[in-house]
Amino acid sequence: MTRLDLRGRDLAADGVDRGLLPRAELDVEAALEKVRPICEAVHHRGTAAVIEYNERFDGVRLERVRVPAEAIGKALGELDPAVREALQESIRRARTVHRGQRRTDSTVRVVPGGTVTERWVPVERVGLYVPGGQAVYPSSVVMNVVPAQEAEVGSLAVASPPQKEFGGLPHPTILAACALLGVEEVYAAGGAQAIAMFAYGTEECAPAQLVTGPGNIWVAAAKRLLKGRIGIDSEAGPTEIAILADDTADPRHVAADLISQAEHDTLAAAVLVTPSEALADAVDSELASQVAATKHAERIAEALAGRQSGTILVDDLDQGLAVVDAYAAEHLEIQTEDAAEVAARVRNAGAVFVGPWAPVSLGDYCAGSNHVLPTGGCACHSSGLSVQSFLRGIHVVDYTRDALADVARHVVVLAEAEDLPAHGAALKARFDWKVPQGK
Ligand code: NAD
Repeated sequence: MTRLDLRGRDLAADGVDRGLLPRAELDVEAALEKVRPICEAVHHRGTAAVIEYNERFDGVRLERVRVPAEAIGKALGELDPAVREALQESIRRARTVHRGQRRTDSTVRVVPGGTVTERWVPVERVGLYVPGGQAVYPSSVVMNVVPAQEAEVGSLAVASPPQKEFGGLPHPTILAACALLGVEEVYAAGGAQAIAMFAYGTEECAPAQLVTGPGNIWVAAAKRLLKGRIGIDSEAGPTEIAILADDTADPRHVAADLISQAEHDTLAAAVLVTPSEALADAVDSELASQVAATKHAERIAEALAGRQSGTILVDDLDQGLAVVDAYAAEHLEIQTEDAAEVAARVRNAGAVFVGPWAPVSLGDYCAGSNHVLPTGGCACHSSGLSVQSFLRGIHVVDYTRDALADVARHVVVLAEAEDLPAHGAALKARFDWKVPQGK
């Protein structure tokens, strides 16, 4: 991997120039122009446009986009028992974690007779995107569906690209995962056309209020374009792993973990931040041997050689923390002495994996945590998918006459200060056009 040497720089005083750090040149803005006609076509021509774009990008022409119930049942019937057991364990752990996230309504008594209740209400209908281009992601069915179900979303639909070798259906393991979770509404649609289908609705698919899930640059661009028309979770694009490691880390593990995420996509980012040049050298030689031995060697080599990946040498772990915070990785592993103490100081990351026994692969499938996480530096302002992503907090305001009378003069003064006297009048009208002076 390429190397960036930040040793000797006073990052605490100067800050970290994010432009220096390795990052994919993902031009989502340029992709917006490519996905705009796709979204417009789906808006105006519905299912016919989804079918056309599926054919163009996934090479298979469908009669209909909705997956028949029999195909979902058949996929579950034919599922490898070991995969079924693993998916069930993944679902069980995800449920354990996400169930605990459900917020309860809370009421605050502001003054005697005046309360504000925060009521958490699920989004009515959501579209869940499950990627299926370079790789297929039954795990993303689990990560989308479990929090939506725990939030008690009333109606949910899954979309995943049609697979040519499976007659235009989504991958059978994706269908089987849907069946295990009790999801009956599934569409064979990928990329921007799937996101637009959820945003606008088609003859086959009712519009949703929210779309969630990871995807490639075309999915991210469609989410950005249609945001507002439909709610989105975050732009969970090509995956990233950053590892902050010192010379207590095992270079074989560090290399294996960098490779594991580079396997997703030629645009995936793998970044090592370390104060140990010896570790950096050892990881490089491990990468050379491990990449050659792995199945998707070409894709991985391209991702590791890309400008989004590299090794950053730092003076010490404090400087390393400044770098990983500036990078705000989707996944951050801490492989150092006192890893828990170092991890507790991290400010920006989608998810943090602590110590030698918590690799990102565990989080991808079976930690119980969610793997739909913000990428591209968005972890400095966004969170991964959770039950909260599917809920809206509604403030319910309940005041008695006396409680309103007590505060009325302040409301009237503030309304006048904003030159909005009708706001004040709405109070005066309740008190014979006078302003009660309160207690
Ligand atoms: P995908 O389903 O996201 O994309 C495939 C679709 O892209 C195709 O169906 C097609 O419709 C569309 N497409 C392909 N070429 C196009 C073009 N030239 N113009 C317009 N649309 C086009 O599957 P993928 O490609 O395998 O990507 C999955 C991505 O999801 C990877 O980058 C992976 O790293 C990422 N991922 C992210 C997270 C996360 O939480 N951040 C989790 C899992 C996966």
